[in-house]
Amino acid sequence: MSSSALQSSSSLMKVLRELDAGLMDHTTWLKVLHRVMVSGSEHNPADLMDDAHCRCRFGLWYYGKKHPELQDGPWFKNIGIFHENMHSQARRLLLKKDVGQPITPDEYDQFMDLAIRFKLEVRSLQSDIINRVCEVDHLTGARNRNSMHFKLLEEHDRMLRNNHPCCLCMMDIDHFKQVNDTHGHLAGDSVLHAAVHFLGKKMRRYDTIFRFGGEEFLLCLPNTGLQEGFAIVDRLRAELATLPIKLKENGEISITASFGLASMNPDETVEDAIQKADHALLCAKSAGRNRVCQWDIEAGD
Ligand code: GH3
Ligand code: MG
Ligand code: MG
Repeated sequence: MSSSALQSSSSLMKVLRELDAGLMDHTTWLKVLHRVMVSGSEHNPADLMDDAHCRCRFGLWYYGKKHPELQDGPWFKNIGIFHENMHSQARRLLLKKDVGQPITPDEYDQFMDLAIRFKLEVRSLQSDIINRVCEVDHLTGARNRNSMHFKLLEEHDRMLRNNHPCCLCMMDIDHFKQVNDTHGHLAGDSVLHAAVHFLGKKMRRYDTIFRFGGEEFLLCLPNTGLQEGFAIVDRLRAELATLPIKLKENGEISITASFGLASMNPDETVEDAIQKADHALLCAKSAGRNRVCQWDIEAGD
């Protein structure tokens, strides 16, 4: 499943704070650098080192550990390039100053353009992260309902353009009220989180899971016809039913869920497909739960 859909909001918020700290550090660094160039005061010896870009606060964060949640995005790599070039250009200016050579306006502009571009790229990454946080259901890590409509319209458009099938599946955890009643709401919350986390790992990279509401989730399976969708969802159902879910105090429990599958059709709206999946889910519930039912075009049911 796409990594952005199952990212914890708290880890993304931590990245936001680290980026803020990195920018703040560079603002101070710029001030010191300007003071050196304007007044001739002593510069920091680390600024002349080849790996100066790895030593500042931002560099320590950027190169210090892997960032799998950011590395695929459009800004991460560019930020590294602008950052390194900015430090290299600063080194050139300082070296010239050290030997008493004048710094030309072009050289200064080049440096400042890199510094400005670096800051803009970091800001773009930050707004991308904020958008991601806004799309996530914080309890479960699934995509939230707000982002669902937009994403499903995108899938509908893609289906029309490429003539590929796409399945939607409504999932509802069975007898979930009993989990809350027996183990308490906090245990119920961790069961929701564990179920979504498990499904997220089992689903394909391009599949998405949305929290539709309460203990109901909508799965979107692009490039998937009903028959293949049925096989995929039935496998998820069976695996979920065997998942041991650890509770903080009371050992382990297992859960089951019911699933209603329907295809998105070019001549129907996204809402039509959701309604069909919802109807198929009702059939799965009334047929005994822990099963997958699909909307059958022939029977209209
Ligand atoms: P069914 O098999 O028919 O789906 O039975 P059910 O008990 O799962 O369904 P019901 O609609 O009776 O109860 C759903 C319960 O889910 C009730 C509600 O309190 C609980 N629930 C909804 N959202 C949350 C949540 O975020 N956390 C917790 N702990 N419980 C939730
Ligand atoms: Mg329900
Ligand atoms: Mg339920």
